This record gives sequence, structure tokens and C-alpha cells, in this order.
Amino acid sequence: MTTRYEAVIGLEVHGQLHTKTKMFCGCSTAYGLPPNTAICPVCLGLPGALPVPNRQAIALAVRAGLALGCTVRQSSRFARKNYYYPDLSKGYQISQFDLPLNEKGHLDITTSAGTKRVGITRIHVEEDAAKNLHGAGAGTDTLVDFNRAGTPLIEIVGEPDLRSAEEAEAYLRALRDVLMFTGVNDGNLEEGSFRCDANVSIRPVGQEKFGTRCELKNINSFKFVRKAIEFEIARQEALVSSGGKVVQETRTWSSTQEKTLSLRSKEEAQDYRYFADPDLPPLVVDDAWLAEIRVSVPEPVVARRERWQRELGLTAYDAQVLTSHPRIAEYFEAASASLERALGGKLSRDKAGKRVANFIQAEALRVVSTSGLDASFPCSAERIAELLALVEDETINGKIAKDVFVDMVATGKAPKDIVAQKGLAQVKDSSAIEQTVRDVVAKHPKELASFKAGKAAVKGFFVGQIMRALKGANPALVNDVLERVLAEG
Ligand SMILES: [Zn+2]
Repeated sequence: MTTRYEAVIGLEVHGQLHTKTKMFCGCSTAYGLPPNTAICPVCLGLPGALPVPNRQAIALAVRAGLALGCTVRQSSRFARKNYYYPDLSKGYQISQFDLPLNEKGHLDITTSAGTKRVGITRIHVEEDAAKNLHGAGAGTDTLVDFNRAGTPLIEIVGEPDLRSAEEAEAYLRALRDVLMFTGVNDGNLEEGSFRCDANVSIRPVGQEKFGTRCELKNINSFKFVRKAIEFEIARQEALVSSGGKVVQETRTWSSTQEKTLSLRSKEEAQDYRYFADPDLPPLVVDDAWLAEIRVSVPEPVVARRERWQRELGLTAYDAQVLTSHPRIAEYFEAASASLERALGGKLSRDKAGKRVANFIQAEALRVVSTSGLDASFPCSAERIAELLALVEDETINGKIAKDVFVDMVATGKAPKDIVAQKGLAQVKDSSAIEQTVRDVVAKHPKELASFKAGKAAVKGFFVGQIMRALKGANPALVNDVLERVLAEG
């Protein structure tokens, strides 16, 4: 009988705290600055320079802990993690070890198998290292850019509760959503502000004890997380099934070779010689500050999706798309509230919500990426509401609205100005429509005769002629009047 194995996976995620300045000094955290221009004695680790914790970074780390159901330790401690590497000029990284800021949280994930709660062991604060630029110097020399040294991070250590690559990906996505929607992290995998290490092992199904694990380092996309873990599970199963043993080591994912490769044997905690940082006193979050941070935690993204489905008439799919980025979520909420207000109760909340959701998904997200819906987007949420209000009161129809929107994005003008300047308003006056209908019918006696003789399709010909003559009218109204006129004989 062949043994069946199950995977045991735990993720360690590093998220950059969304601050303007570094963890222990006033240097900028802006991405893409020229190398070594955002540095000072503190983040370079020059002798005598003393660190001062960034209050905003700590507040964000506490916020992350609260959003993930953690217990916040009101007196935690910074520790030095000692190792030698060119990107760490101090010879140690300031992190937290025995007394982390947040502990014992959880995150609910949804996969094809349903919903599952995944434990979070701890969330601690630390600083990032610098960046080695291999081959950036003369010949094959490696240069070091210290701009990133000292960037504030949280490390979220998850329990080994995940059993498949699919669950790992779902966990990572759900975690990114929470951190983005609480303003803790910008969720940008490409710029390295959200990155993940995965501990993967296998064990025979039914066995309690964990197998030997491998750590997959710095996986920087959702796709690669899934592929790397899938590969690693298969590699370990093949190894163990053929009588081999998994060696504890650190591995990396090669996206070109589509496999994991051995980097080095895994360090144990004792290799880092952790000790409390003597330059930093205990990190105290008093009751008043904790209460202040607690009220700043926004509505959880999952709750928001459910509320939109309940109150704003959205489908689960709509809610998912409109929460793909906090900016689009804000845009949607502002636009639907604005439309509801503009129509003063003529349209129920759920209908207004659904109209806005449809328009944003079909039109706005076609011309702009989700993260681009910021203040620089020329069409504000209020303007979208104004445009949809024009459709609702039948000033323009849905098709014209799409053209007006393209104009709004290109020119930044208000929809009613575009409609007025281009003469796009449809004729709503039924007596004017009736006059045109009668003129068109009178001008085409032959077509009228064939309609009378039973050729119903001729009606379409009349509608076309009338719409052309009116240069925009409510099609339903035109149809009604036409039917009446044709019936008169
Ligand atoms: Zn600095």
C-alpha cells in the first residue's frame, strides 16, 4: 500500500508599513529615489547614532494586529538579530523576538473547499535591510543601495494551518486585502512592499508530528507562491516515496526553470544571537493610544463586501471586483451615495448602487487601472453620479452616456456641459416627438402601405428615420407614439 501524504504550510509575510519616513530615523521611504540619497547615520548604522521609533509605524502595526484579531502586547521589546551580510551595515537588524507587539490572531480564508480559519502566531515590527545590486558596478561588482535600509516592516507569522498551495494563495490574498484596506500596506508586490516566505513540509496522512520543512524565500507574486509550493510538495513526496529524506534548508523559486532550488542550509534562531536592543527602551502602547488606534481601524473588507450585497444590490462578483483596491472601493461608495442624493429618493439605494457598480465595471475600469482611480483621475465620483443622474431623468440614454464619459475623462468637463455643448440631450417633449413621427410617416406613403398590408418589419424603418430626425430621443417614447400613429390609420 502506498502512503498518502499531506502538506503542512505556514507563511511568513513581510509587509512594508505605509509611512513617509523610516522606522528609526527621518529618512524618506519613497520608492525609486536615486541610490543612496535617502540615508543618514542612523539607517547606515554609523557608530554613536541612536534610533528613535516612528510613532506612525507603531500605530499601523497595532492596527494590523487589531484587524487580524491579535492580542496587543502593551509593553513589547525590540531585539537585535545578528548576522553579517553586505546589505546590513550595522551587523544586526532591529526586530522583535521574545516579546512581539501582537500575538494570537487569525484570518478567515475561502477556497473551493469552503471557509477556513487560519491562525496567526505573531505580528512583530522590524526594519528592512538595504538592497544589493548585483553586477551594477564595474564588471561583476555588487553595489549596495541603502535607501531601503531601515524601512518599517511588520512580519506576520502564520500558523502551519495551510494544507495546499490553493489555501496558501487564498491566505496571502486575504491578508493583502486586510492590510491594504486598513491603510497599513500598499499591497504592491512588484515594488517588494508585500512579500512572502513559505515553510513547506509533508507528513503521512493521520500523523501528528510535522515532517522536516524547507523554507521558500522571497516569493513575489501570487502565481509564483502557488507554483513554488505545488512544486515543493511534489518534490518532497517524490523524495520521501523513493526512500530519501527531506533536508532542512532554504530554497528559492526560479521562475525561469519553474522549480525550487537549494540556497543554503537553514539557520536556527540561536544562530542569530538575539538579545534586547540596549539602545531602545520597552515599546509601550498605553490604554489611551490603544483606544485611539482601535477606533481608527476601518470596516473589515469582508464585512464591506457583505454590506454592499445586502444594501446596495451588488452580486458577490461585483463586490469582489469593486474591492480589488481601496481606491476603487472609496470611489464606488462615494459615487453611489452621490447618485442616491442627486435623485432624492426617486431611485432606491440598491438600484443606485447597482447602476453605479455596473457603470464603473463596464466603463471606468476599462479606461483606468484600479489603483489609478486617485485624485489625478479626471472624472470624480461625484461626476459619475451626475452622469448617471442624466440617464435616470432621461436627458440622455445609456449609449450616449458612454460617449459622454469618454469625453469627461479626456477633458475633465462636467457631464451636463458636454451634453449641452454637443447637443446630446434627447427630446423628451412628447408633442415634439409626435410632430416628427407624423411628418416621417406622411413622407413615406409606400412604406405605410406595406405596413398596413402586414409587413411589420417596416416599423423598424420608421423608428430609424424618426430617431435620425430627432437626433436623440427616448426610444421607448418614440415607439409608443409611433404605434399610436400607425394604429390611427
Ligand atoms: Zn536614515
